[in-house]
Amino acid sequence: MNAEIIAVGSELLLGQIANTNAQFLSQQLAELGINVYFHTAVGDNAARLEQAVNVAQTRADLILFTGGLGPTKDDLTKETIARLLGRRLVTDEEALRAIEAYFVRTNRPMTENNKKQALVLEGSAVLKNEHGMAPGMALSVNGITYMLLPGPPKEMRPMFTKYGRAFLRSAFSLSERIESRVLRFFGIGESALETALADLIDAQSNPTIAPLAGDGEVTLRLTAKHRDGAEAKRLLDETEAAILMRVGRYCYGYNDETLFTKTIERLKERGWTVAAAESLTGGWFLEQLTAIAGASAVVQGGVVCYTNGVKEQVLGVPQPLLETDGAVSEPCARLLAENVRAMCGADVGISFTGVAGPDPLEGHPPGTVYVGIAVRGRDTAVHRLTLSGTRDDIRVRTAKYGCFFLLET
Ligand code: ATP
Ligand code: MG
Repeated sequence: MNAEIIAVGSELLLGQIANTNAQFLSQQLAELGINVYFHTAVGDNAARLEQAVNVAQTRADLILFTGGLGPTKDDLTKETIARLLGRRLVTDEEALRAIEAYFVRTNRPMTENNKKQALVLEGSAVLKNEHGMAPGMALSVNGITYMLLPGPPKEMRPMFTKYGRAFLRSAFSLSERIESRVLRFFGIGESALETALADLIDAQSNPTIAPLAGDGEVTLRLTAKHRDGAEAKRLLDETEAAILMRVGRYCYGYNDETLFTKTIERLKERGWTVAAAESLTGGWFLEQLTAIAGASAVVQGGVVCYTNGVKEQVLGVPQPLLETDGAVSEPCARLLAENVRAMCGADVGISFTGVAGPDPLEGHPPGTVYVGIAVRGRDTAVHRLTLSGTRDDIRVRTAKYGCFFLLET
């Protein structure tokens, strides 16, 4: 059982958009236990789409299409498949009523070509579009299953999750339950993590363990299959426990959690508020925290202290300290954290001072960073980091380390 995804749209070939539909569908199919062997992208051109389908028919049992179901002339996916399979296009009454209702609801006149959107391949199972007009459809002909989905991700994703998956489950009698879980790590590199887990990764079969690195973080996706969903979950729990026994210190969360959402959550649990003095991060740390709903219970405020002048005049770092130790130093980070905490009346003060690059500063190479953490009534901690990467990498990782240290505090 293997699948090919054909994304239709000239904008993909022009580089105007990325093929996120293929990415989404690949993840979904992996969860269903269906192998995806090919991703194809083709423009809004009937002859070339036909070629792509001809090739896919020689190598896939399941072909998924996205895009080209709309009302305009360049939308020709349905028409092309209909011709290739020798099927008629017929009006799906339910879809037509939904489209008419959509125009009434949005108080717009319906044009003739909108009716085209209610056309489906004769004999296909119709997949309802609850977020737009063009319905999707699926049908099997000569041992190959074709599934046509709309292009806009906000229509395609819910359609596939709600109706597409159910169709595939019954069409291919996929009775195995697939459970997956992502473990998120920070403060440990991909190779160090893989080395620590080498024997587990080598012996993996069910669950599978798939590492992925990016943005200074590493994730492990665990996927277990079993007829019984509860048993699949138990397999995940067992493997997770074995992993955490070794590298649990670096695991900060699951699935869609981020260091920033975890930080807000943890500070909230403790009833702590936070203030930040940001030099090299320039406000990005607080920007990330305040982007999260509920940040107001935790974030008190902060200062972007980019120059020595602001470090001195606003945050009270004495001029002699800046001259002898420098701005990129342990004592400077300490004072910035303590003073921003006191100034903003927060429970925790955090500071970021260092060299983002590309040029060295005060004789320190890019990536030299100090993060200060001052908690009311405790000794202030200062962490020294030596980061690598571009200016952007260094700024992002600095802010993420800030979260990591707060979570450990
Ligand atoms: P519509 O009814 O909106 O015309 P459609 O099914 O005809 O939908 P297209 O016209 O091919 O789909 O694409 C509509 C929009 O959907 C594109 O402009 C793009 O923003 C998005 N889109 C299409 N294909 C993809 C893809 N493979 N990945 C991500 N986004 C896509
Ligand atoms: Mg279109």
